[in-house]
Amino acid sequence: LEQVVVIGASLAGLRAAETLRSEGFEGTVTVVGAETHRPYDRPPLSKKLLAGEWEPDRIHLRQPDSFDELDVEWKLGVAASHLDLDARRVDLSDGTSLDFDGCIIATGAGCRRLPDQGRHAHVHEVRTVDDSMRLRAEIADGGRHVVVIGAGFIGLEVAATAKQLGNQVTVLEGASAPLIRGLGAEMGAAIGAMHEANGIDIRCDVRVDRLDPAGVLLEGGELVESDVVVVGIGVVPATKWLDDSGLEIRDGVVCDETLLAWRTDGSPVPGVYAAGDVLRWPNALFGEEMRIEHWTNAAEQGAAAARSMLAVAAGEAPEPYAPIPFFWSDQADIRIQFLGRAADDDEVLVGAGSIADGKFLTLYGREGKLHGALGVNAPRWVMPIRKLLLAGASWDEAVAHAATL
Ligand code: FAD
Repeated sequence: LEQVVVIGASLAGLRAAETLRSEGFEGTVTVVGAETHRPYDRPPLSKKLLAGEWEPDRIHLRQPDSFDELDVEWKLGVAASHLDLDARRVDLSDGTSLDFDGCIIATGAGCRRLPDQGRHAHVHEVRTVDDSMRLRAEIADGGRHVVVIGAGFIGLEVAATAKQLGNQVTVLEGASAPLIRGLGAEMGAAIGAMHEANGIDIRCDVRVDRLDPAGVLLEGGELVESDVVVVGIGVVPATKWLDDSGLEIRDGVVCDETLLAWRTDGSPVPGVYAAGDVLRWPNALFGEEMRIEHWTNAAEQGAAAARSMLAVAAGEAPEPYAPIPFFWSDQADIRIQFLGRAADDDEVLVGAGSIADGKFLTLYGREGKLHGALGVNAPRWVMPIRKLLLAGASWDEAVAHAATL
């Protein structure tokens, strides 16, 4: 292994490059990133940066003066446009190309958009630091009517921040409750009620027809007037540049349990790995295929992909990547933390604390087993659940544990 290219210069790509070096790889490492910025942290984009509490110089993922220590060539402001698996070469948007014997795909995800989104100057999305600063300029002084389309994590974070800045905030959600995909309907509704108590108007079961210069038009003809619209309707893995590569793409780059990518014919592609929001892989610990759109996974997976690549190059067996997924979401005074997985048909039980007090631990179970745990304003209750999940705790054991809290 002599030449590694990492495509995507964000969290997963940076952790991959750092791990290659920390594990002693001495060949060349080139990191290609479509954004002009060095790797930065996205969670503050909907929280402290958007609120004006932090400036962009606080969100580096690595101290600016320590980038050179990595001995990595950064190609920033340049996108990968094509991956040639047979020639083992990646073509770039500046007309150059890079040969590789190892490649880590870490191109993350981009915002899903409404059909006519680009035509309206008052319509925003939040994925990049530039997006966040543009929106901040609109809402910083308060007094605007901000309509957020989508009550997912990012939509609710933006809504909470906009409210804290003194804006009137309405959230429009197509499903019957906020956060259904991440937390299920019951807990989503509980968190929605906490936002409503903070003065945010959340309207569920509404269908957006289209954007309008005066706001958002709903199906049936109602106009929800607004000065600023934020679209938070989820993300799409950034795989367009791989469409003609021969890699198997199914809502993400399909990988095996060691994060090695596969061709459409089902054969593995030696030396080509993926990490972060862009891939799906079978998590053996849960016996299910996952694509995760959260920080901790991107960081850990970047490192894991690099370790897999180095292990194979050294003739060793790579470790399967089988973590307990974890994420957090800070929405004003609501701190959400989640370990494990939630599914629609899970059994759900508030095991400690209470929704009414705004501090609680909810257990998620299936087939007599603990599957996940949600903490709201309860960090000390959530983290010890990791041990139970790792031990494959039964539902009854988990309920008994929660009762001691
Ligand atoms: P990304 O961060 O998406 O980076 C991919 C990079 O690849 C981008 O810079 C992109 O420009 C680049 N790229 C794309 N295509 C190409 C190409 N063809 N060639 C070269 N470069 C390319 N997670 C949490 O757990 N908790 C939170 O509170 C939280 N808050 C968030 C708030 C916001 C506003 C956002 C946007 C995300 C948040 N996340 C949070 C999610 C977390 O930030 C992501 O999971 C993480 O950034 C994923 O990292 P990544 O490196 O896989 O991809």
